[in-house]
Amino acid sequence: METKTEITKACIDCKEEFTIDSGDLGLYEKVGFKIPNKCFDCRMQQYFIFSIFGKFRKGKSDLSGESLITVLPNKLRFPIYKSHEWWSDDWDPLEFGQDYDSSRSFFDQLKELQEKVPRPHQIGQNNTNCDWCDDVWNCKNCYLSRSMEECENLNYGYRCIKIKDSFDVVYSFKLQSSYDCLECYDSFNIYFSQNSRDCIDSYFLFDCRNCQNCIMSWNLRNKKYCIRNKQYSPEDYEAELKNMKLDLYENLTALKKEFENILKNKAVHRENQNLRCTNSAGNYMTDCDKCVNVFAWEFSQNCRNCLRGLRSKDCIDMGFSWNLELSGNNGVVDGGYALKHSACSIGKYSEYIDMCKDVEYCFGCVSLRKKKYCILNKQYSKEGYEKLKTQIISDMEKRGEYGEFFPYSFGTGPYNQSNGILYFPKATKDKVLKMGGYWSEENLSSDDGVSSLDLPDSIYDTKPEIATQALICPETNYRFNISPAEYSFHKHKGFALPRLHFDERIMKKMRKMANIRTSPCKCFYCQKDIMAYYPPEWGYQKIACEECYKQNIA
Ligand SMILES: [Zn+2]
Ligand SMILES: [Zn+2]
Repeated sequence: METKTEITKACIDCKEEFTIDSGDLGLYEKVGFKIPNKCFDCRMQQYFIFSIFGKFRKGKSDLSGESLITVLPNKLRFPIYKSHEWWSDDWDPLEFGQDYDSSRSFFDQLKELQEKVPRPHQIGQNNTNCDWCDDVWNCKNCYLSRSMEECENLNYGYRCIKIKDSFDVVYSFKLQSSYDCLECYDSFNIYFSQNSRDCIDSYFLFDCRNCQNCIMSWNLRNKKYCIRNKQYSPEDYEAELKNMKLDLYENLTALKKEFENILKNKAVHRENQNLRCTNSAGNYMTDCDKCVNVFAWEFSQNCRNCLRGLRSKDCIDMGFSWNLELSGNNGVVDGGYALKHSACSIGKYSEYIDMCKDVEYCFGCVSLRKKKYCILNKQYSKEGYEKLKTQIISDMEKRGEYGEFFPYSFGTGPYNQSNGILYFPKATKDKVLKMGGYWSEENLSSDDGVSSLDLPDSIYDTKPEIATQALICPETNYRFNISPAEYSFHKHKGFALPRLHFDERIMKKMRKMANIRTSPCKCFYCQKDIMAYYPPEWGYQKIACEECYKQNIA
């Protein structure tokens, strides 16, 4: 049994009281850092200052002048190199090395360094033909997509793993030839679907498993030829599918509306969306053990207070991070062991490193690769490193800096163009600026194009030349195009063309998964009081406790 101790503190950012329980205390001790001064929300919100969801734009490398495509904003505090240049030996990050000045704040000195050292224009590695992508790893031929690994021919994807030949796929693993899906897994030819697994040739599914040829259905298991949860013969099913005429935008809009109403009134929602998790608490976790207060997280053990990531063990306080062990207080970190207070890095036994790759025993460095015993991008001997590190930590402790994450002023772009704003929509301009962060006032809307609402209703009444027409999204007023690949996919599948800008399409779906707060409600079956991750304003009528869901659905 764990001893029942917990600490209550007032958050230094929002002033709200928060509690650190015995499980947290144990893991802070194991990872080796002091307990935080900020509440969970304020900690997480800060980790996302490095996670930019900007509009894709063209720019130039500060090294070669080569053209590039980036999500980083126009006005940058630091130079950017084209990714392959950044990873090359054509430049030496140690040339930017600084001596440490004990009389000044370490964060101030590190920020000066951060503003001198180049960063890559794109996050990710080992990609082929993925220029219009960001946070992209081991992918091929992807377009206008972000945060994905091992994907091929994916367009307008977000947070995807192993997706092939698909469009508009958000937070999904192992899909093929699919369109407009959110949180779907191991499926083929599925469209307009949510929270479904192991399905084939289906449309508008919610929480279905192992279904084939189903339309507008919810909570089904092992079914074929169902429409609106009713059994059809294969012939009648085909006739109904033809009748739906998905090539017409008007029909598609009506069906999407019907689907949303089903989510509200007919579908049963489990109190959380965790799958194959043990001894865990949080939401949207898959294959996790002993993970507490963890969200959107996979294949991990013994993690606490984490948001958006995967493949980690014994980690605490992390956002947007993966492949870590015995680490914590990290944001947008790509891997490591005993890595603390760091961002955008892969490293071991290091602290306060930003955009460093494969480093060990580094402290307060930016954009280093394969280095050891460096401080402020300056090389030291092992002994020199240890001595100076001890002195800096002691100076930082006196200034109240040590153990804090990088201040908001280290952010790589405006907060309103970060992934953070998705999870923390209450991060207002005033609040972010007060914290020293950045906010964009840039007007991204355009009227140089035709309204997408003026497109012909049926895709069959359009020609491939439509791909050269600039369109204006009616909701964001952003300008966008239908890409040639998108056009032929839609025509082949017989789906009406989308009317919204691709980023808005992604965001609309992601907002359904971004809620990290529980709301009190009653189990639809047993009337037990439960806490579930569905805010009352979503209007979900049938929320089930774990036991009742298991008995009635799964
Ligand atoms: Zn707070
Ligand atoms: Zn119940």
